[in-house]
Amino acid sequence: MKIAVFSSKSYDRNFLEAANTDHEFVFFEPRLTAVTAPLAAGFETVCVFINDQLQANTLRQLAAQGTRLIALRSAGFNNVDLAVAVELGLTVVRVPAYSPYAVAEHAVGLILMLNRKLNRAYNRVREDNFALEGLLGFDLHGATVGIVGTGKIGFCFAHIMHGFGCRLLAYDVYQNPECLKLGVQYVSLPELLSSADVVSLHCPLSPETHHLINAETIGQLKPGMMLINTSRGGLVDTAAVIGGIKSGQIGYLGIDVYEQEAELFFEDLSDTIIQDDTFQLLQSFPNVVITAHQAFFTREALRNIAETTIGNISDFEAGRPCTNQIKIK
Ligand code: NAD
Repeated sequence: MKIAVFSSKSYDRNFLEAANTDHEFVFFEPRLTAVTAPLAAGFETVCVFINDQLQANTLRQLAAQGTRLIALRSAGFNNVDLAVAVELGLTVVRVPAYSPYAVAEHAVGLILMLNRKLNRAYNRVREDNFALEGLLGFDLHGATVGIVGTGKIGFCFAHIMHGFGCRLLAYDVYQNPECLKLGVQYVSLPELLSSADVVSLHCPLSPETHHLINAETIGQLKPGMMLINTSRGGLVDTAAVIGGIKSGQIGYLGIDVYEQEAELFFEDLSDTIIQDDTFQLLQSFPNVVITAHQAFFTREALRNIAETTIGNISDFEAGRPCTNQIKIK
């Protein structure tokens, strides 16, 4: 099958080509938008990532140009208008799990970086500044960690934090039996927010979870707590979070995702003037650590993404039922 791969970087090309069986990949660097959609003319499959925009107008254009399959190289699918895809007869497949460990481990990395101020310590030592003032942390052992969303990644995260000796609280619309076995205690969202020293978000972005962390819920947080978001930027209202940092309600913020990240992430902008004042303000706070959507970025995850994507495309081509097809409930 001939596949147009959007938002492709050298690592996408390397891993997809290494896993390829008999498909023909054409790699396009730009993001898929209504403007770049003509590049996919004549391609039966379009392969996309998280910041490609598959709203109604783009999907209609793709369908009119002969596309029949949208293959996401991601687990999240909040960037696809599924109702319109179904209406157009487009099949949408995804990679539901590629390495929950990668994302969970990155979330833990952000926690340690913030708590023990490793970023500041690293810079100090490089300048022969061996003073400890300002680097005081707290033990994770005994701390209360609140997990919002206990699916594959949330469970891995719970497992790691259990190893640290944390007390684990969770909020989810379903209770995960594996988490219950681990001793995770399910509570309401307000109870979790008011009790946790660290809150880590692992639920998908949906209309129900959009701005789950907002001015009102920030008011419920334990003062000085740590907020970690490796899920999707839209889960938090960034302006409200900035207010929470300024007031001290949020004592630490670690994010791998940002609501307006499509304008910034995955590109080298070091030579340009960043126009996003909100992002620049966040960057200026000493208790904020930002990574640019790299939680998934491990060798194991990229290998699994490539292999699953190729399997999904081969299933579709052979007319086999694809277990990774996204269906509207
Ligand atoms: P999953 O489907 O296994 O788990 C999601 C959990 O969230 C489920 O238990 C579900 O019941 C729960 N949930 C759904 N709606 C909820 C709500 N309204 N309130 C509370 N909980 C709710 O998904 P996963 O593989 O664990 O991935 C979780 C999210 O992580 C993805 O949706 C994606 O946005 C994000 N992610 C980020 C990266 C990254 O690189 N930063 C990589 C992969 C995934």
